[in-house]
Amino acid sequence: MRAVKWTGEAAQGYPYWWDALTDEPSDDGLPERCDLLAIGAGFTGLSAAIAAQDCGAKVVVVDAGEPGKGASTRNGGMFGAHPRLSWDRLAAQYGADLADDLMAESAPATAWTRALIEAEGIDCDLQQTGRIQLAWTETHFNNLKQLVRHVTEKSTVKMRLVERADLAQEITTGRYFGGAVLEEHCGLNPAKFHQGLMRATRQRGIPVVGHAAVTKLERNGSGFIARTGKGDIRADKVVLATNGYTSKPFNWYAKRIFALPSYIIATEQLDANLLGHLAPGRRMMVETRARHSYFRISPDGTRLLFGGRAAMVDVDLHKAARRQFETMCEVWPELQDVKLSHVWTGNTGYSFSHAPNVGETRGLHHAMGYSGSGTVMAPYLGAKAAYQAMGDARGKTAFSHTAFNGYWAHPFAKPHFLKAVDIWYRNFVDRKESWQSR
Ligand SMILES: Cc1cc2nc3c(=O)[nH]c(=O)nc-3n(C[C@H](O)[C@H](O)[C@H](O)COP(=O)(O)OP(=O)(O)OC[C@H]3O[C@@H](n4cnc5c(N)ncnc54)[C@H](O)[C@@H]3O)c2cc1C
Repeated sequence: MRAVKWTGEAAQGYPYWWDALTDEPSDDGLPERCDLLAIGAGFTGLSAAIAAQDCGAKVVVVDAGEPGKGASTRNGGMFGAHPRLSWDRLAAQYGADLADDLMAESAPATAWTRALIEAEGIDCDLQQTGRIQLAWTETHFNNLKQLVRHVTEKSTVKMRLVERADLAQEITTGRYFGGAVLEEHCGLNPAKFHQGLMRATRQRGIPVVGHAAVTKLERNGSGFIARTGKGDIRADKVVLATNGYTSKPFNWYAKRIFALPSYIIATEQLDANLLGHLAPGRRMMVETRARHSYFRISPDGTRLLFGGRAAMVDVDLHKAARRQFETMCEVWPELQDVKLSHVWTGNTGYSFSHAPNVGETRGLHHAMGYSGSGTVMAPYLGAKAAYQAMGDARGKTAFSHTAFNGYWAHPFAKPHFLKAVDIWYRNFVDRKESWQSR
């Protein structure tokens, strides 16, 4: 395995995005009661709070840690929505009508979250770069062909194929069998997006209370009492917005949404000509292989950020960085001497259906399970959950009808089954895909 050299710019675990944050962390006091309590202060919880307040509710947001330090400020900043599953698989699971509706909601979801950014005047380095899905094997390219056909038939999302012969316009590597471009997808700095949502929330007078983990949620008449690390709060309605960080006392949800870690490395500043040569398309780039690498140029055009499945369980960050570096050099061997500046990780919240779900169980509303695609869907569906809680017709969404089930191998809140799946993928699936790509 290659040795990784470091620039010494950041402590391991510190996301590259946080360098751009300007607001000092601050905390609000916990009120005694509210109409709607959002648990979790990431994209979902903040968007739910804004939507509920727009419906006239007195709202409070609480978070177990510092608001935003869940996945929302740690992700790859790839902005766009499309179903993770093909139309065929959606139709097999839900029937053709719901599959059509799920496909059709991608474009309005993206437009909705873009409009939120614009309406709130959030400066988050949003650039319409487009996104390319890169086929690791010939079979994957054939699957992409079918995906493009279904996406263009069933939604207004613009998606087109890139044949292998034309791939050099997008990326300089011989690794891929072709690709598919989603023109409307964007790149952004997720930490700045979250910072802007925090400002929008607080400007409305909504308290956001950090370090106030909800340790117990009890029924209180038709409402709830939430016991938090900072005292109790009574709420008529509650929206659970904890996604990949869901744990006790919300075990019922943690059995349906499991935390899958994802790891990202950032390179040192690279020569602009080198970056232009490696990725002339300057798009958000995502592989089809099970290692699920996703990579991009930083918004200021100086570095590569390379994320993916270094492991499905928590591993030492130095080890994760080595694995990500190896994978990056598989794509671009010319990077073998570059130094890394950052490595960090975060929890993606996966559902067993690979689709998000918005709903209500015993009076508790939720939006979660974005399965690695939450920069558009988390704000969008957070607002839907709040509208549903407030009885507002704008809460209607096809994502209320997706499966929200547990799995026999995941009977407890902690996803122990991932240890076995990690071994299986590393020793069988990754090797098989390497062999198939030759
Ligand atoms: C490394 C990585 C890369 C990713 N890349 C992309 C990408 O490029 N594009 C994309 O679309 N998506 C991406 N995602 C997914 C995306 O970041 C998430 O879907 C999205 O941020 C989810 O937002 P959220 O608000 O639901 O959850 P989070 O931002 O994770 O917030 C959940 C919050 O709940 C809080 N919480 C948990 N339990 C409690 C409790 N008991 N009481 C109070 N608070 C609690 C946590 O402290 C946390 O702050 C990525 C995720 C990761 C981890």
